[in-house]
Amino acid sequence: MDQLLLDLDQMLKRLNLANARRIWQDLVRKAEEEEWGFTQFLTTLMAEEIAHRQQTRLRKLTRRAKFPFLKTIDDFDFTFQTSLKQTMLGSYLSPEFVVQGRNLILLGRPGRGKTHLAIAIAYKAIQNGFDALFTTATALIGHLSTALQNGQLAQTLHLYVQPGVLVIDEMGYLSYGPDAANILFHVVNERYLKSRPILFTTNKPLKLWGNVLHDPDLAEAIIDRILERGRLIILDGPSYRTRDQKIHLDFPDQLDSVSGARFSGISTPKYTEPACCNSHTNSTF
Ligand code: ADP
Ligand code: MG
Repeated sequence: MDQLLLDLDQMLKRLNLANARRIWQDLVRKAEEEEWGFTQFLTTLMAEEIAHRQQTRLRKLTRRAKFPFLKTIDDFDFTFQTSLKQTMLGSYLSPEFVVQGRNLILLGRPGRGKTHLAIAIAYKAIQNGFDALFTTATALIGHLSTALQNGQLAQTLHLYVQPGVLVIDEMGYLSYGPDAANILFHVVNERYLKSRPILFTTNKPLKLWGNVLHDPDLAEAIIDRILERGRLIILDGPSYRTRDQKIHLDFPDQLDSVSGARFSGISTPKYTEPACCNSHTNSTF
């Protein structure tokens, strides 16, 4: 390599243009073969660098989000959960969802696609330029409870307050310790004050969160903050996991006692939701 090429290589390195450094020689060959102008060459080199950086960023943030599996909104079969239309989730798939700090509670029995949708929405937020963290309610409460006992609540809380989007999966599936409500309130309130969104999935109607958290008053304060800029979506269509099996598990029909937005694969929706995305829907519980 002559000196000029060595200098260029060093300069690209110094500018952290790793991808440009890797591809520029191939691109020069292509440009010569196809007789590109200088502008086209430079534009292509820069576009390749940007695309590469976006891919790297997406990979890094997806790994950091700790999703248990990666599913996108395109993977979700809306013909299966028939009355949940993609347009109903519109605002949750746009950057506004994060910027405006909206929340979402996905309520339903197992296999309805709650975790899938929460992951898909969080992944979309990553694609839109934000970061995200997925956790289960059990892991979050356990982690913060230990931190509280060790006098490290503030530092540990930061891990759950800082991400652009927080997914708290399986709220109410397992039983929690006596400080659960207190801990969850800290997370919800800190994020509420900073207008940062939370996506919850749960199989428990909101009125039962008081029992689950051993503190009805704090549970109400938590739900109040979530729904001030948030929405409850009930998925009560068939289970996707057991879709090919003609079985019916007799599940206590608690979900029917909850008011709010009902999107179902089976029954008629109780409430008509806006077809698009700009309104803040406050649901009651
Ligand atoms: P839940 O959290 O409600 O128990 P999951 O989101 O874990 O259910 O869904 C169980 C499995 O079924 C996952 O692999 C998910 O991707 C898939 N699934 C659920 N609903 C749908 C759907 N409507 N379209 C495509 N896949 C679905
Ligand atoms: Mg789930």
